[in-house]
Amino acid sequence: MPQPNFLEPTDTFVPRHIGPTDSDIQEMLATLSLPSLESLVEATVPSDIRLQTSLTVPSPRGEQQVLAELRDMAGQNQVWRSLIGMGYYDCVTPLVIQRNILEDPGWYTQYTPYQAEIAQGRLEALVNFQTMVADLTGLPLANASLLDEATAAAEAMTMCAAMSRAAGHERKKFFVSENCHPQTIAVVQTRAEPLGIVLQIGAIQSLDLSRDEFFGLLLQYPSTDGYVGDYSEFITRAHASGVYVVVATDLLALTLLRSPGEFGADVAVGSSQRFGVPLGFGGPHAAFLATKEEFRRQMPGRIIGVSKDVTGRVAYRLSLQTREQHIRREKATSNICTAQVLLAVMAGMYAVYHGPAGLRRIAERIHGLTMVLAEGLRRHGCVVGLEPVFDTLRVPLSPAQSETILNRARQQKINLRRYDDQSLGLSLDEWSTVEEVQQVLALFVGHEIPAEEFTAILASVDVRYPAPLARTSPYLTHPVFHRYHAEHELLRYIRRLQSRDLSLVHSMIPLGSCTMKLNATAEMLPVTWPEFGRLHPFAPSEQAQGYQALFRQLEAWLAELTGFAALSLQPNAGSQGEYAGLMVIRAHHRHRGETQRDVCLIPVSAHGTNPASASMCGMTVVPVACDERGNVDLNDLEAKATQHRNRLAALMITYPSTHGVFEEGIRRMCQIVHTHGGQVYMDGANMNAQVGLCRPADLGADVCHLNLHKTFCIPHGGGGPGMGPIGVARHLVPFLPGHPVTKLGGPESIGPIAAAPYGSPSILTISWVYIALMGREGLTKATQVAILNANYMAKRLEKYYPVLYTGTRGLVAHEFILDLRPLKESSGVEAMDVAKRLMDYGFHAPTVSFPVAGTLMIEPTESEVKAELDRLCEALIAIRGEIESIAEGRQPRAGNVLKNAPHTALSVTAAEWTKPYSREQAAFPAPWVRDNKFWPSVGRIDEAYGDRHLFCTCPPMDPAS
Ligand SMILES: *Cc1c(COP(=O)(O)O)cnc(C)c1O
Repeated sequence: MPQPNFLEPTDTFVPRHIGPTDSDIQEMLATLSLPSLESLVEATVPSDIRLQTSLTVPSPRGEQQVLAELRDMAGQNQVWRSLIGMGYYDCVTPLVIQRNILEDPGWYTQYTPYQAEIAQGRLEALVNFQTMVADLTGLPLANASLLDEATAAAEAMTMCAAMSRAAGHERKKFFVSENCHPQTIAVVQTRAEPLGIVLQIGAIQSLDLSRDEFFGLLLQYPSTDGYVGDYSEFITRAHASGVYVVVATDLLALTLLRSPGEFGADVAVGSSQRFGVPLGFGGPHAAFLATKEEFRRQMPGRIIGVSKDVTGRVAYRLSLQTREQHIRREKATSNICTAQVLLAVMAGMYAVYHGPAGLRRIAERIHGLTMVLAEGLRRHGCVVGLEPVFDTLRVPLSPAQSETILNRARQQKINLRRYDDQSLGLSLDEWSTVEEVQQVLALFVGHEIPAEEFTAILASVDVRYPAPLARTSPYLTHPVFHRYHAEHELLRYIRRLQSRDLSLVHSMIPLGSCTMKLNATAEMLPVTWPEFGRLHPFAPSEQAQGYQALFRQLEAWLAELTGFAALSLQPNAGSQGEYAGLMVIRAHHRHRGETQRDVCLIPVSAHGTNPASASMCGMTVVPVACDERGNVDLNDLEAKATQHRNRLAALMITYPSTHGVFEEGIRRMCQIVHTHGGQVYMDGANMNAQVGLCRPADLGADVCHLNLHKTFCIPHGGGGPGMGPIGVARHLVPFLPGHPVTKLGGPESIGPIAAAPYGSPSILTISWVYIALMGREGLTKATQVAILNANYMAKRLEKYYPVLYTGTRGLVAHEFILDLRPLKESSGVEAMDVAKRLMDYGFHAPTVSFPVAGTLMIEPTESEVKAELDRLCEALIAIRGEIESIAEGRQPRAGNVLKNAPHTALSVTAAEWTKPYSREQAAFPAPWVRDNKFWPSVGRIDEAYGDRHLFCTCPPMDPAS
C-alpha cells in the first residue's frame, strides 16, 4: 500500500543538494523558452546517445537513514592495534586541527589556489609545510605535496632521468634498494617500464657503480625493516660516477637523525601522514618531495612561491612551473594537478602545534620505547636485526615461532608485519606506551616480564644516536613553529588564515571544469569516524569488511552510472586515472602482440594533464584540431587516425567537450578510432553533465576516469585530496591495477599505480553517501539542473559577453565560455583583470584562459540557487559596464578600477586616495557586498617578481606582527 504523504521522511536530501526550487526551475526554463527539464535535455544532449535503460541505483533516502546504514557498514570494520609500519603509522590528530581544519568547510571546500589574492590562508599554510619539509630533509626546495610516498619516489626517478639527460648523459638504468617499502618498489616498477627505464633492484652492497650505467638510485632511510644506515660514503661514490641519489625518508625520524641533504642526497621523498593525519585504510595523506636549488626546473607538482603585491607586501602564489602544464603539454615535468593540499595543511599545522621541541619529544618517546622493546627481546634470546633503528624492528623467527606469536597477537587484536621469510616486523608510533611495549614483549617471550626486570631494561637503554647519524643541525627555527603552542593562539592562527581564503562558505566558485558543488555535512561526517579513520591499509581483510562492502557497492553504482564492466578505485586523482587508464590500454595492445601501438591522439582543447599522462606511458602525442565551433574536427581526426593506423593506441577525449558542448560526433569519433585499431580514453572530468542522461561506455569509450572530487562531492580540499577511479570495458578488466601487498588485479595487471590498494578509502565514504542520498532520480535531476543553471547564466550574459561555443541548438552543456578577447582591443582589459575585479564583488573568478586563452569558463553546478546565479550575472554585467566606461574614454586605460583590482581594506582606507574612481566604487560596487564583504588580504600579486625570485619557505616575519 503506498504511504500517505505525511509519512515520507522530512530529511530528504535532494532539495538540499539541488539549489533551484521547482518554481525557480520553471522561471529559468521560461527564459530559455523551454517547457520542461526534459525538453532542455532533448535540446542539448544528442538523442542517439541518451540512456535507454533505467538505472538500478536505489531511490533517494533521508540523511539519517543513509547514515545509519553506513554506521552498520563501519561497524563491520575492526580497529585493531596495527604495528605493521611500511610507511603508515597511527598518530594523534590534534583535536584543534581535526575540528578546525579537517572538519571545517572554510578549509576543505576551495579549489587549487588559482586566484592567489583570495587564497593567502592556505598558501601560507602550504609554505609552512614546504618549510617544514625543507628543514627536516635538509634540502632547500620542497613542493606543496604529492599524492603518496610511492608515486613521489616514481616522480623523483623521472626527475633524475631528466637531470641526467640535461647533464648530457645517455643512461637508462635506475637502481632501487631492496630495503624500500614493497609498494614503493612496485609503483616505481610500473612507472619505469613504459619509459624504457631499466630497474635494478637489490642490495646496495651489490651495486657496481664503476660502469657509469645508472642515472639515479633510490634508498630508504630508515629502511623498510627499520635500519638506519650511514650512506654518506656511498653517496659520495655515486655522485663521483654521475648518479643522482633519491632518499625515501620519514620526517619524524629526521627530528633525531642527520638529514638526507646533509649526507648528500639530491632528492628526498616520503609521506607526512604521521604528522597528525589519520591512516584512513591508506589515504588520503600528503607525500612530499624536496630537492636542491639546481633541480628546481625539474620539480614535479605544485610549489608555492613567495612574492609581493602591488604595495610591496609579502604575498604567496603558485610558482611558475605549476602554471606551465597547459603550455608544456607532453613536455610538462609531471601530470600532477590535484595533489593533497588539505593533508599538507594538516601536517604543516601539526608541526606548528608541536614545534621542533614537541616533535623531537614525540620522536624520542617512540624511539626510546623501540629501544626498550629491542633490549627486552634481546635479553630473551631474540635476534633483533640490524641496528641502529628508529621505530621499527625485524625479528627473524622459525615458521613455528612466528605462527605462535601471530596467534597470541591476534588474541590481543594486534597486527604485526609478516615477511615472506617468516620474520616478524613491528613499528611503534605516537600511540605506543610502556604498557604496549610490555604487552608486545610478552607476545614474543610467551609470558609477562617481571616488573624489576623491566625496570632494569628501561634503565639500560640509551636513546641517543652515535655520530654521524645523530642530528646536530637545527630545524623549524622560524617563529611560526614557536608562536602557536597555546591552543588559543593556534585556534586564532587557524581562523586568521582561514579568513583569508574565499571558499564555498562565502559564495559560489564558478570554476569551469572543476564542478564546485555542495559538499554536504552528511557526506563529510563519516570521514572522521574512527572505524574508517584508524584502519591500516595492510590490515588483514577480515578487519576491513565494512570497507570491502562500501567498495563493492560504490563500484557497482559507478559501473552502473558509467556503463562499464568494472572499476579500479586505486587512482588518487584524475591525472592518476588518466595514467592508469592509458597504461591499461597499452597493456591491452601488448597482450595482443601490437607493441608498436604508441600514438595517442589528443584534441588541442584537452586539459594539460592529458598529454602529460600520455607521455608518462611512453606514448607519442599527436594533436587533433578543433573546428571554429569548438568541436573536434572529424576530418582531422580521421586523417590522423588513418595516417597513424599501425601505431594508433588511443584517443583521449573529454565529454561533453572542454568547450562545454555535447558534440554530436562523439559516436563517430569512437568508431573512427576503433576502426583503426585504437582504444578510446574518456576524460570524465565533465561527468556532471552525463550522470543519469548518458554513459561513457554507451558512447563508445573503453576507459573513463571519474573525478570523485568533482562529480561525486568529495571536496577539493584547496587542491586535494581527490579520487580518480577508472571504469573499463570488459576486454580491459584483466589489466586493471594490482598491488604487491593486498591481492588485487589479475595476472595481466599493469601493477600498482598508487601506494595504497584502494587509493584514499576514507574519502570514498563521501561519494557513497552522496549517491545513496540522491538515488537515481536525484542524480538525474542534478544533471538536468546543472545544465539548466549553465544555460540560464549563458542566456543572461550573452548580451554582454559573447558565449564562445554552443551546440547545434544554441545551447551549452553544464559550463560555458565567455569570450573577453574583443574587449582587450577596445579597453585594454584582459580576462585576468575581470577575474581580479570579481573579488571586489565577493566572487571567485571562473576558470581563466582554459581551454581558450583570453576567456572565462563558468560552471555553476546544480547546487547553486537562482539568487546566487543572478548575483554573479549582475557582477559580470556591472563589470562589463566598467569596461565600457574605459572603452568610451570616461576612465583611463591604465590605473582604472579593473587594473587596480582587487582592492584591500588597507588600500581603500588609506589617508590618500588619488584613483580616478571613488573608494566606494572600489570596494562596495554592489548591494550585496555592503551587506557581506569579503576582503582580499593582499592587492594584485606580482607574478613576474615571484617567478624571477623563486623562494618557497617562510619569509622573515615582521617582528611587530
Ligand atoms: C580536473 C581535470 C583534470 C585533472 O584532474 P585531477 O583530479 O585534478 O588530477 C583532467 N582533465 C580535465 C578536463 C579536468 O577538468
